[in-house]
Order: sequence, then C-alpha cells, then structure tokens
Amino acid sequence: MPIARVTLEIALRREFDYAIPPDLIDRVEIGSRVKVPFGSREVLGVVTGLPESSPHSNLKFLSNVIGALSLVTPNILALARWIAEYYCCPVETALKSVLPDAVRKEEDGWRERLHVRALPPTGDLPPLTKRQREVWNIIEEWRELSLQEILRLGETTAETLRRLEDKGLIEIALKIDERDPYARERILPTQALSLNPQQQVALEAIRKAMDLSTRAEPADSTDARETAGSCFLLHGVTGSGKTEVYLQAIDHALDQGRGAIVLVPEISLTPQTVERFKARFSSGKHATLVAVLHSHLSAGERHDEWHKIRNGRARIVIGARSAIFAPVDPLGLIVVDEEHEHSYKQEESPRYHARDVAVLRGQRERAVVVLGSATPSLESYFNAMRGKYTLLEMTTRATDQKMPIVRVIDLRSEALKEKGHAPPIFSHQLKEAITQRLERREQTILFLNRRGYSSSLQCPKCGFVAGCPNCSISLTYHRRDQRLKCHICGHQETVPTKCPELTCRNPAIRYAGLGTERIEETLKKLFPHATIARMDSDTLKRKEDYRRVLNDFRTGKIDILVGTQMIAKGLHFPNVTLVGIIYADLSLHIPDFRAGERTFQLLTQVSGRAGRGDVEGEVFVQSFTPFHPAIQYARRHDFRGFYDQELEFREQLKYPPWARVALLTLKGRNEDKVKFSADHLRSVVERHTQGWRDLILAGPAPSPLMRAESFYRYQLMLRTKAMSRLAQVLTEVQASLQLPEDITLTIDIDAVNLA
Ligand code: ADP
Ligand code: ZN
Repeated sequence: MPIARVTLEIALRREFDYAIPPDLIDRVEIGSRVKVPFGSREVLGVVTGLPESSPHSNLKFLSNVIGALSLVTPNILALARWIAEYYCCPVETALKSVLPDAVRKEEDGWRERLHVRALPPTGDLPPLTKRQREVWNIIEEWRELSLQEILRLGETTAETLRRLEDKGLIEIALKIDERDPYARERILPTQALSLNPQQQVALEAIRKAMDLSTRAEPADSTDARETAGSCFLLHGVTGSGKTEVYLQAIDHALDQGRGAIVLVPEISLTPQTVERFKARFSSGKHATLVAVLHSHLSAGERHDEWHKIRNGRARIVIGARSAIFAPVDPLGLIVVDEEHEHSYKQEESPRYHARDVAVLRGQRERAVVVLGSATPSLESYFNAMRGKYTLLEMTTRATDQKMPIVRVIDLRSEALKEKGHAPPIFSHQLKEAITQRLERREQTILFLNRRGYSSSLQCPKCGFVAGCPNCSISLTYHRRDQRLKCHICGHQETVPTKCPELTCRNPAIRYAGLGTERIEETLKKLFPHATIARMDSDTLKRKEDYRRVLNDFRTGKIDILVGTQMIAKGLHFPNVTLVGIIYADLSLHIPDFRAGERTFQLLTQVSGRAGRGDVEGEVFVQSFTPFHPAIQYARRHDFRGFYDQELEFREQLKYPPWARVALLTLKGRNEDKVKFSADHLRSVVERHTQGWRDLILAGPAPSPLMRAESFYRYQLMLRTKAMSRLAQVLTEVQASLQLPEDITLTIDIDAVNLA
C-alpha cells in the first residue's frame, strides 16, 4: 500500500504516515497539500516524504489533495527545512511561511464568473433590434468581458444577452476571473537603455556568472553566507542605475529559459517600481507576466498571483520579503534590492532573513544572486572584502548628474541664537532654501522619522511624563485626533489639560519633541501658499492613499512632501532639488550597536532623493551632534570611510560582522518570574556550551524596551562565529528547558532588532 509521510499544520515537530487511497495515487507527490484525519477532526498538511514502508500499522487514509499541482516544490521544501533548523523553529512553522495563506488554505480559490464572448461571425448578421445591435457592437469591440461589465456598459439586461446567444452571436460561459491588482493600469512598454561603462562592467560580470551557473554542479551547504561563491554585491550610489542593470540581467535569465525573483523592501514596492518591471517585460521577445507579491494585496489577488508563478505564466516575480519563496522554476536570478534593509528580517517565527535565504536558495538552485544597495550592510560588505561575494561598484549617477551637496546644520548654535527658547524646527538656512524652491517651482522633501505631533507630554514643574500603562515608553501626542497614543501597543487616552499628578496640577503642561504632524502644521504657517502633503502611517490608511499622494507629487500638484522613512527610499522624482532632514539624531541615540549604521544609511538614502533630474540637488541635515561620524561620512558620500571606522568599532566589541548574534528573550507578566527564568536559562545555556571558546554570553538584562503590551522582557545575547552550530544547541536547550507556563522564550538568530 502506498504511503505518504505528512507534516501537519499544527506544530507537533513530527511527521505522520497515511495510506494513499487508490483514486488519489496520481495526485500525491512530495509537496502536495493534503487533508488528513487527525484525532476527531481533519487537518491540513504537506507531504514531506513517500516512504516504501511505515513502522506503524493500521494507517488511516488521507482524505483529499488540494490543488492540481503540488504546492510546495522540492526546492521550497528543502528551503523550509533549512529555515527550521537554522532559525530554531518547528518545520511546520517554516512550511506555513513558504505559502501565502490564501494558497495554503485554498478558501479563496479561483473566482469563477459568467463571461460573455463574441463568436467569430458566420456570414451576415441576423436581423437585430436597435437595442440588440447596440449591445452587440459593444461586445464585438471588447471581444470578451464579464457579464457584470456588459450589463453595466450596455445598460442592458440578461434577457437581451440571451437573445444574442440564441442568434449564435455570443457565448455566455463560466470562466476563471483572474484578479489582477494592476488591471486598471495602462503601461507603456520600454526598451533596454544603452548602459554606461560602469553598468556594462557590472552586467557583464553577472551575465558571465549566469552562463557558468547553468553548467556548475549545485553546492550543498548548510550556511548560506559562509560558502557563497556566485553571489554579487552591487554597491552603487543612489541613482547609479542599479535597476537598469537588474532589468537587463533578468532579460538574460529569460534568454536562458529561466526566471527571476526581485526582492524589494515593502515600502519601496511602489507602483512606480512595479511599473518599471512590467513595462520592460510585458511585451517583446520574452514577453511574460510579472507577478507581484506584497502585503497590500487582497487574499484573492495573492492567490492568483502565486498561481501565475506556479503554473509558469509569470516568470518574473517582484515582491517583498516572502516573495523569496515564490515557486519560480527554473530560477536563474535573484535580486535583493536595498539589501541592507531591516525589513527583510521577519520579526515573528520563523525569524528568517530574506537576504540570507536568497543567498542559500541561489546556491541550491544554481541561480545567481545580486545584492544591491547604495549603503550595503556591514555584514555584506565584509563578505565582499573577504572574497565571499564579488564586489561590483558604480560610483557615479547613471546619467552623470552630480551627487547632491549636503550641508550639516548645527542645531546647538541655532538654539543659542534663540536665547533660552527651544531651537526652531526649521533653521534659518533651511527656511531660505525652501523659499527658493517655491519660487523656482522645484520640489522639496522633508524627512523626520517620527509620526505624531510631539513625542511626549511633559510637566515642566514636577517632571511628570505621560507614559503608556502597558509599555515602558512615553505616549505620543496626536493633535488632529486630540489623543495621546502608544506607538507600541496602540493604547490611547485623552489629552489632560493640566498635570495629572495630584500634588502638582500644573496647567502649563507642555509638549516636547517633534513629529511629522507638527512639521506639517509649522510649514503651513510659514508657507501659507505652498501645497503641502504628509506621508506617514497616520495619513495613509488605505492603499489608494499612497498612490494618490505619490501621483500628485509626481505631477507637481504638491510642492513639499513631509514624511517618515516611507519617503526615504526608491522614490525617483526629477523635480526634487531639496531634501531637508529635520532631526538627524533621532536614530542615533538608541541602545543598539547598529544605530550609527542605521543613521548613515537613512541619511544617505534620503539625501539620494535630491537632484535626480537636471538641476543639482541640495540637502540640509539638522543635528545636535553634527560631528558624529555617521553624519560626517554621509555628508561626504563616503561609504568606505564609514565602513572602515565602523568595522573597527565592531571588532573591539566583537559585534557583527565579526561574530553573529542570537538574542534570547523571555516574556511574562510577572517581572520576578521573568528575571528568575532568565537566570535559569543562562545556566542551561552555559551547561550546553561548556568549553566553547568563541562564544560570548551576555545577560540576562532587561530588554531596551523593558515592558511592551504589559509583558516584561529580559534578554540574553549570544555571539559566535559558528551560528549553525549554536542554532543546533539552542534547539536542544529549548527542548530541555522547563519554563513556567506563563513565560515564553523567543530565539532570534541573526537578530537585527535588539529592542
Ligand atoms: P538606482 O536604482 O541605482 O537608484 P535607477 O535605476 O533608479 O538608480 O536610475 C536612476 C535614473 O537613471 C532612472 O531614471 C533611470 O531610468 C536612469 N538611467 C539608468 N541607467 C541609465 C542609462 N544607461 N542611460 C540613461 N538613463 C539611465
Ligand atoms: Zn503601549
């Protein structure tokens, strides 16, 4: 009797054998989604093996197979297994991540609708009434459209359509109606640009590697970043034309009969970006669909996009983090754009890093991997320096525009000028620069990485600060809603009119710190005739908002755009000649060894929005610590300088890239219990790692965000070069650890968020 070994959806960390009923034999293969009886109910799972025999007798039959094709291809199954092992999670959890929910559950399935199709004419038209003829003309012009659409367009009834069907002019039938999130967009095809010399060198190297990769034997490795030989790091300044290199490399993959995956951070997955890819590949010699995967799609749209990839109609995928699991087969190229972005790390189990998964997948499937960035992560640049990745450099902008001039403004001296008052939000110089741009009808982008009106509400008399009852942070004041809000847990309260401390009751309670809402308001007062728009997660509630604002900005309806990191990346507006960074120190003083790197990256990326057209760009960086290396190197566009000094600092403290970091966090409502459990955890880890010399074990200590959503959090930080080995040990630790029921442990391998 044929047997299927199945990994169930519920995380039990083991596989179960089922007998395959004769009528399903043809449809069961490794990777099939199946429904099986389990206890008294039916559960979903994935076939992860087809063993010859089973150690168990009396096997139950599996009940059904979902989908015509196996949903988890062998390549993706292998990837899921690696993720489970390396990121210390059950394989069930990893498997859940590799399929979009809508595909996994198949609830949304394909949507079938009645379609009306014009039939090829046979001889003369039969006699028609005036009404019928009008409707027929519309159908003939469209060839095919949904019943609903023709009812609306022709202002007609189903009855009239039946008549036309009787006369043999049209056919009405049920058809799959593909949900295409970009259906309403008209996209004009584009041709490959002729490359400048630096782009040519980069593309040639990538193409050569792709040609070689069709011959080489697949590597078999457990640690992506340590063995990658065919992986490239494309370090190109903002506007150097990296995207054009990606496009032409993809073209080469299609030449080879292979497909491509392009990862971009969620927030830079703008309609503009998607359009560039569709415009190149929707027609021409290798015309193929370009599938798009990101979190703003409806479940149905995601289902349909995914199946377009699975059945080979879309050979190019552009998407955010989870698109790395798209079933492109065969795969020739993976591009990870803005590879330094932290959003590639998933902050829930499985806590995988899509860039690292990309490198591993590329190796396993003999696809070339290109990591691109204007500000590579220290880890990737280090790998390139060590020869693990091949470094490709593009040091000038594509069409020879100059890099913008960056001016750093010392807010301390601005504050002095105010003689005891708070420093102004806009320095004199920045105000002047904005005025100039308005006069010249050029556009301005102003960046501040904090939404809301002000970051806290303080009493100057007693020192009271309005804090969240559930989290160890202060509440942000939102002026339009007249609410104090917690940006961690969402807690809200009304704004007090005087200090709430019973012994104080000072009515002169004050707002401290800036947010984008306040920037917008101040701007409106300073420049009453300018059109100003704000882009942050408070103003963009629906997905159309985003498109609308960007469109208005592109067409020049908006003079000044204010926003958070949402506007920092990927936007290409040639008429933007001024960028102002209101407060550069915001990301600098957080307790994270990557704070300097983050700041350098943000400043460089935001500055890169300026001067992408004919007029040279100018950037103003306002700061209280103007001589900080992250600010000074960004001012000079000197990545290498920043890298060298940052690398030295990391070496002294044995932080990445000199070692890798695993963060173990314990959470619970009772602080003493959390502390006690953390001590216990440390002793268990010590026992499992005795004699391990390259391991540094720090903590337990309270997490920087010590309390979040009413849970106390304590953490241990482990650093080692041998992370695969440590991951194995941690899996053992997790299995043997006895924690109180209300305490949870999370293991974050290669953690990027230390809060
Ligand atoms: P990056 O991704 O490196 O920031 P882009 O690919 O967005 O840069 O390129 C910036 C601009 O330069 C785009 O408008 C692009 O069309 C243009 N561009 C890129 N390569 C060329 C080229 N070889 N010739 C002319 N224009 C180019
Ligand atoms: Zn809170």
